Amino acid sequence: MSVSREQLVRAAATFGTPLYVYDAGSITAQYQKLTKAFSSINARFFYAAKALTNQAVLKHIGSMGCSIDCSSINEVKLAIRAGFTPDKILYTSNSVAFAEIQEAVSLGVFITIDSLSNLDKFARTYGNQYPVGIRLRPNIMAGGHVKISTGHATSKFGIPMEQLDQLEKLVVSYQLSVTTLHIHTGSEISDASVFAQGLAFLLDLAERFSTVSILDLGGGFKVPYREEEKEIDLKEVAQQVKIAFEAFEKKHGRSLQAWFEPGKFLVAQSGYLLATVTVLKPSDTICFAGVDSGLNHLIRPMFYEAYHPISNLSNPSGNLQRYQVTGNICETDDFALDRALPEIREGDILAIHQAGAYGFEMASSYNARVRPAEVLIQEGEQYLIRRRETLEDLLIQQIIL
Ligand SMILES: *Cc1c(COP(=O)(O)O)cnc(C)c1O
Repeated sequence: MSVSREQLVRAAATFGTPLYVYDAGSITAQYQKLTKAFSSINARFFYAAKALTNQAVLKHIGSMGCSIDCSSINEVKLAIRAGFTPDKILYTSNSVAFAEIQEAVSLGVFITIDSLSNLDKFARTYGNQYPVGIRLRPNIMAGGHVKISTGHATSKFGIPMEQLDQLEKLVVSYQLSVTTLHIHTGSEISDASVFAQGLAFLLDLAERFSTVSILDLGGGFKVPYREEEKEIDLKEVAQQVKIAFEAFEKKHGRSLQAWFEPGKFLVAQSGYLLATVTVLKPSDTICFAGVDSGLNHLIRPMFYEAYHPISNLSNPSGNLQRYQVTGNICETDDFALDRALPEIREGDILAIHQAGAYGFEMASSYNARVRPAEVLIQEGEQYLIRRRETLEDLLIQQIIL
């Protein structure tokens, strides 16, 4: 644990539960790992903002020198508010109204387009006056769960390869300034060879598009969720990129830059969801430990069958017993099914680990329960970076007749 148990206990005591706590130091350490592993190649990193968009977190990430990848025009605007300049912002659009792309152009950010339809509108509106990236569908199956695989042969993401002829015609006839070719094949990719495969696919295409100088390999770097899991070997990815780039440069006399869009890699392990045990319910099969949170705050276990380590902050050295840790929502919302944990008593505080990415960000107010507060730990200090919602927050957008 990069944050001590005492720090988490203190955060819960100060700010109450349920509570998201993020450790800025962990984000910095992950970023340094990235830059170090890729130091021998020309690479840029764009944090995939959709993992966690709190302004304090974005500012911290910007302060490290990292760029940012956005999946909606509002994320672009949040990035600008957090101090990212347009030359550090990438808008990876998917099924968006063309007006959003026009807005992104007016903000001056990098844009990646993932359909012929929008690329055609882009070509007719801007011709070669604005650089553009193209997202392709490489038909590679990758990632930790089918819901987070995004580059396979039936995925909605990217321009399908059978449209390559049409794509080339469009690019040639409008002389489009295609700077970037992009793929993002999935999340939780543990196998470096997936990136090599993606790279080979992009290099093939880069030969056909002479204006391309950037290959964007997307995100998806695996971080461990279970103890026995391993982080992806970044040095191996870097080595493969290096070899492939050098061969390409030799053959074509043009140098390339690699872009990556890590989300989970930067923030997953920085985050903890703290919850208080409200009810213990022994049954003939297992003891349920009900907490003051649920799938409304962390949907990953129910949505992706994701595993999150859990620790009992209040009784760390208690005898191990088996529990089904579950939420308080009118819906089956387990955090853990049959987990050995130090004896749990009502009132104990549990920490759900690896909750920084796609945790708060996917939270909702389902069951009219409010979303948690968020705290950032920075150099030993604990900062409240979002107050807990209230009933009034749930009503504020409603128009009461
Ligand atoms: C979600 C997403 C990412 C980040 O994926 P992680 O698994 O969190 O690293 C990167 N690029 C694009 C285009 C995405 O949609």
